Amino acid sequence: MKKLILTLIVLALIGYLYLDWDGAEPKVEWLDAPKDIGAKTAVSLQALDDGKGLARITVTLVQGEQRQIVFEERMARSWQPWKRGTPQRAVAFQPVEALRDFSLAEQAFQMEVEVEDHPSWLLFSRTSTLKGDFRYDATPPSISTQSTQHNIRQGGAEAVVYNVSEDTVDSGVLVADRTYRGFEMARLDPGQRICLLALPYNAAADTPFKLWAVDASGNRSEIPLAIQVRPRRFGRDTISIRDSFIDKVAPEILQQSNLTRPATHKETFLLINRDLRQRNHSQIEELSRRSASNLLWSQAFLQLSNSAVQSSFADERTYLYQGQEIDRQTHLGFDLASTAASPVEAANDGEVAFAGYLGIYGKCVILDHGLGLMSLYAHLSEISVALSQQVTRGDPLGRTGETGLAGGDHLHFTMLVQGMPVNPLEWWDAAWVRNHVLGRLE
Ligand SMILES: [Zn+2]
Repeated sequence: MKKLILTLIVLALIGYLYLDWDGAEPKVEWLDAPKDIGAKTAVSLQALDDGKGLARITVTLVQGEQRQIVFEERMARSWQPWKRGTPQRAVAFQPVEALRDFSLAEQAFQMEVEVEDHPSWLLFSRTSTLKGDFRYDATPPSISTQSTQHNIRQGGAEAVVYNVSEDTVDSGVLVADRTYRGFEMARLDPGQRICLLALPYNAAADTPFKLWAVDASGNRSEIPLAIQVRPRRFGRDTISIRDSFIDKVAPEILQQSNLTRPATHKETFLLINRDLRQRNHSQIEELSRRSASNLLWSQAFLQLSNSAVQSSFADERTYLYQGQEIDRQTHLGFDLASTAASPVEAANDGEVAFAGYLGIYGKCVILDHGLGLMSLYAHLSEISVALSQQVTRGDPLGRTGETGLAGGDHLHFTMLVQGMPVNPLEWWDAAWVRNHVLGRLE
């Protein structure tokens, strides 16, 4: 009997020793640990342990002789030897924000990570360490304006050339709260940037403009930018919508846009004129983010040859159906009419950013002219260019037509600055283009 009890005790002990043995060292690695650390920068890391599980993660910040723990987490163990503790833990912390014992100098520092697992047989734990070199930078980048005499019309554009300090990774202009990105250009000095910006047609005359810059540590600067706003008046138009017009245009637009036709004519029109219009604007805005970081052209834009203006930029359109107002939209382009199926030319040098069917715009070509500037050609009957093709000013893009939401054969032409429609009149005007854009690059 005694012998049996003794054997059972020995077996239990062997079982415990076997089950509670952790042969694996914990592992630790940085997940997101930028070299340049600002006051608010977050750092993340991941710890793993295959055996008894993680017990502790400790991060110590070291600069010269000074040290302080900036992050620590302890994890409970399981008291049942056959169960594992925490096998994996990802943590994020803000090292500078957590620092209390000393103030960090704006220079190099280190972080030492120690990861400990739970002990085997309550005796032997294992520890792994990870070290990293970082740099503390709390100084925001500097910005100053280079170009002068900025003025912008409602619905218009402007270019600003400005200087940024070397550590700048991103910069541009804020128009109220909309961000425009600045670009480096080969023909500018290394510290210089150019930003094309737009003022919405309905923006207030006291809209604030600011230059902004961000460095690798996330430090951000903003300074006011003096731009004089010139008001502009826009036209109005009333359009009566008939069932026959809806029946003519809706089937193709809906089919090309994967939309199901609603029950009534009125709902069908609103689905296209309101919802699809909004969706198409988002698609165009998305495209504008992939604009080339260089100016692809060198002279004023072309207006469609021998064309008459049918409708201008920012005309406010009121839509009537059976005598009742059912919708209002702003026409953010020019309608240019010529003879039917007239050749459509590239308004300037650029690259084809879109060629295909685009909702209310029907068969449509969008050209990228660089720095976020694009031109759009809509309602075409025929497209003769392909995506990514390089085009020269005056090259054929296709022919005018009445695809999409169009009442007759015409070209709908829009200019866009980083996704914001602007008045093409400025870009067709050689003096404006010289004074506001090309001249600022000399
Ligand atoms: Zn139009």
